Amino acid sequence: MRVTAAFSRLLRLKGVWVRAVRFEPDRVVVEVALRRRRLVCPECSFSTPHRHNIREVQSVWRHLDLGVWRLEIRATLRRLSCPVHGVRTEGVPFARAGSDFTRDFEALVAFLASRTDKTTITRLVRINWRTVGRIIERVCATDLDPGRLDELFDIGIDEISWRKQHRYLTLVCDHQRRRVVWGTEGAGEKAGDRFFAELGPERASQIKAISMDMGPGYAKSARKHAPQATICIDSYHVVQLATKALEEVRRDYWNELRSLGDQQAARRFKDARWALLKNPENLTKSQAVTYRKLKRAGGEVWRAYTLKEALRAIFAPGLTLEDVSVLIDRFISCATRSRLAPFTRLAQTITKHREGILAAVRLGITNARTEALNNKVRLITRRAYGFHSATAALALIMLTCGPINLQLPHEPHLHP
Ligand SMILES: [Zn+2]
Repeated sequence: MRVTAAFSRLLRLKGVWVRAVRFEPDRVVVEVALRRRRLVCPECSFSTPHRHNIREVQSVWRHLDLGVWRLEIRATLRRLSCPVHGVRTEGVPFARAGSDFTRDFEALVAFLASRTDKTTITRLVRINWRTVGRIIERVCATDLDPGRLDELFDIGIDEISWRKQHRYLTLVCDHQRRRVVWGTEGAGEKAGDRFFAELGPERASQIKAISMDMGPGYAKSARKHAPQATICIDSYHVVQLATKALEEVRRDYWNELRSLGDQQAARRFKDARWALLKNPENLTKSQAVTYRKLKRAGGEVWRAYTLKEALRAIFAPGLTLEDVSVLIDRFISCATRSRLAPFTRLAQTITKHREGILAAVRLGITNARTEALNNKVRLITRRAYGFHSATAALALIMLTCGPINLQLPHEPHLHP
């Protein structure tokens, strides 16, 4: 068998034949030529027998490594004029438009990015993390399930910070299928409006329930575009607010101790932070000791803690809607009388959103359901910190939690 024929079979690249193979010090270079005569636009299906001019373009792609060798594919391409996209270099079947990598290589990177950490990928595949970002952006743009916005009935809309300095992404999840179906950069009403614009009025009118936080932005957008939908408040957010209120009480108390010069007590309350913010069942041994000390000491911080825990317990599984509504009212009255300013404010917020909080319980949009997906997204977002753009961070979330079927190059393709 000739070397070129052997490489043709080895590389299995769609629509090309191998003209020549040569070894360079650090790579194997494979020259290929397209089988088809017609020129195809890289962005759409437009094809033509005519070249735009005689200018040729030397293109290079990286393909899957061959043992320890880097493998480079080279081809001489022609230019065409697409009525929509203008003058472009012709597309090739084995690579996405604008990419320096073959589809097989990108499939491997996308698969790895959805499963493992930055160092593992960059070291194994020998590309930098930003390049990983650009690759998964392309994979996401072409491979997400196009029907992902159909048949949405129970959805959740939420923001997540993907970088320090308050850079946010808005994510929409499908509660029934438990996956993220849509995302955009930014937060609040405008981000919500962008979602509904893409969804369109017909699909928006099918939505029965939308869960969200207690901010005004998403609610405003939802009332505008899906007025029939019940607005639910995720209990997850309610508990989060209580945790914040507790943190405020603890910090005030700590500052007070410090200003009184009681350094030892101040340090104790600083350490108490973790013991108090964690759920009691997740405490470490030393945190449990701090926790017992605080309990014995009583005082404002302890009262704040018991309030927060009482609220968390309301959303534990197994309670009926009636139980929950009685307990919420009891919480509101306790918090109002607590003489702890952050909890008085919390009581006001909860009163204002009482209906939405109960709607979530009634419709079964429970903490457990949203929290699992939420935690998964948060974990992935931490990995996305080094990315250059929000689109790349979003792509990583969609690859991991979205409607996409990632396959490795050696696996049989469902959609050829
Ligand atoms: Zn085109």
